[in-house]
Amino acid sequence: MPEGHLLHRHAREQHAALAGRTVRVASPQGRFDAGPFDGHRLDAVTAVGKNLLYAVDGAPAVHVHLGMRGLFLGCGAWPPAPPRGTRFLIGTDAAAFALIAPSTCEALDEAGVAALLTSLGPDPLDPAASREEAVRRVEGARGPVGAALLEQSVWAGIGNAWRAELLFLAGVDPARRVDGAEAGRLWDLAVHHLELGAAAGQVVSDPAAPDERWVYERDTCRRCGAAVRVSSVGGRTAYTCPVEQT
Ligand SMILES: [Zn+2]
Repeated sequence: MPEGHLLHRHAREQHAALAGRTVRVASPQGRFDAGPFDGHRLDAVTAVGKNLLYAVDGAPAVHVHLGMRGLFLGCGAWPPAPPRGTRFLIGTDAAAFALIAPSTCEALDEAGVAALLTSLGPDPLDPAASREEAVRRVEGARGPVGAALLEQSVWAGIGNAWRAELLFLAGVDPARRVDGAEAGRLWDLAVHHLELGAAAGQVVSDPAAPDERWVYERDTCRRCGAAVRVSSVGGRTAYTCPVEQT
């Protein structure tokens, strides 16, 4: 499932290619009404957690959530030959991007955007995010830290892979609660590693081995070799080193 680092990567790429320009917008699949957006200037593409927002001059915003299977494909200049099933197509005569199989692709007015932003917690990839608020939300969350980190109203952008790797790096068992100092340490790890992930386009929990994970979807811990414990925390599969995560 796409997590926050990938959405930020998409936002950076599309903002650099399209922002400040008059864009063409279409829905080859027909399930999005592109009319209000086609031929308008795109002001900005931003990511908030796992959400992408296109701010369009004189029109509502476009809100995209990739869900489990959604993806973007670059597809050359306009008019492109979009892949089959393209829900949302946006581009200029220099670059175009096709969105396939999102869970959400909708127009949002100002109140809708405000409601979305209000529903989300601090995003580790937002330079303006408050560390204090991030800590407060983890401390105030119900249930174990492993459940809290998946709640987008606690922190925006963390999914199952980041949860597993960040909790490993912090040495914290997902099934327990954490204090403020531990929550702050987790936040600092998230800020550092999600940025590495956004730059690389994948989860990076060990910069020396960016293609490897410590425990996520592994049979044994990559550091100590212990059998990884697989359990359910917050409704998703948690991967834990029983030796190093206490
Ligand atoms: Zn271990």
